[in-house]
Amino acid sequence: MSPVIVRTVDELRKKVRGLRDHGRTIGFVPTMGALHEGHLSLVRAAKADGHATIVSIFVNPTQFNDPKDLEKYPRNEAADVALLAPLDVAIVFAPTVDQMYVDGFSTKVSVTGISEVLCGATRPGHFDGVATIVSKLLLQALPDAAYFGQKDYQQLAVIDRVVADLNIPTEIVGCPILREVDGLAMSSRNVRLSSAGRQAAPVLLTTLKDAATKIAGGADISTTIDEAQKTILGAGFSNIDYLELRANADLAKLSRFDRPARLFVAAFLDGVRLIDNLEIGDA
Ligand code: AMP
Repeated sequence: MSPVIVRTVDELRKKVRGLRDHGRTIGFVPTMGALHEGHLSLVRAAKADGHATIVSIFVNPTQFNDPKDLEKYPRNEAADVALLAPLDVAIVFAPTVDQMYVDGFSTKVSVTGISEVLCGATRPGHFDGVATIVSKLLLQALPDAAYFGQKDYQQLAVIDRVVADLNIPTEIVGCPILREVDGLAMSSRNVRLSSAGRQAAPVLLTTLKDAATKIAGGADISTTIDEAQKTILGAGFSNIDYLELRANADLAKLSRFDRPARLFVAAFLDGVRLIDNLEIGDA
């Protein structure tokens, strides 16, 4: 059944009340649209937990530090709704920019520390935009649980922090990365790759796997990372924003593998910024 499409916060709250009056709990999946199986896996996780599910589709302008990236971000609401229809989603919340950022909007949710490294270092303001919009969405819908992909592991960590610090009464659920058969992490941005780029892109995961195996076996971190960077650049990526080993718990940068950790990478191919991460031990 086609989901109900809601455009305003008032209407969203009314519909959520209706679901709760019928005894339903609420699971929320925030997205920027251009949906793929990765997004659908979050919807399935929410449904498996027994929730009436809300999917938001909102290309949030405040989290784009590059106006060209915002302009080029793929948008296709009709296709998104068609993908969601068979999944029995209760509500698609697709507000306008004016609805989310009213005249005079001046509030910002900003997380220090974990927001300042990795993507935060190269995309100034990005996580303020993410933390602000996710706080708004959670306060608007007040869901029991909200589902996020580990593909954006740092984003998940930032949101965990926001929800704990602001006492937002929503359980945050982290879900595994969905990948194409060749290992490329699914992403709305993948459609912008050329066919040669698309063929080269899986080198990100194969390189992370190789480096993770070496690190798990005791290899020197900085030598391993230098080699991995050379492999990625040699495969056609134009530059690497970061390739680092960081602790799962607090994203501290590690020069020794002495606690649960993962490799994080962000690199450009065909002018498209791709990110991925891999837990050491998962290679
Ligand atoms: P986005 O629309 O890119 O903002 O992503 C919306 C949500 O989907 C975020 O929680 C992402 O982490 C999640 N997501 C995106 N790609 C994947 C993927 N390949 N596997 C799992 N979750 C994903």
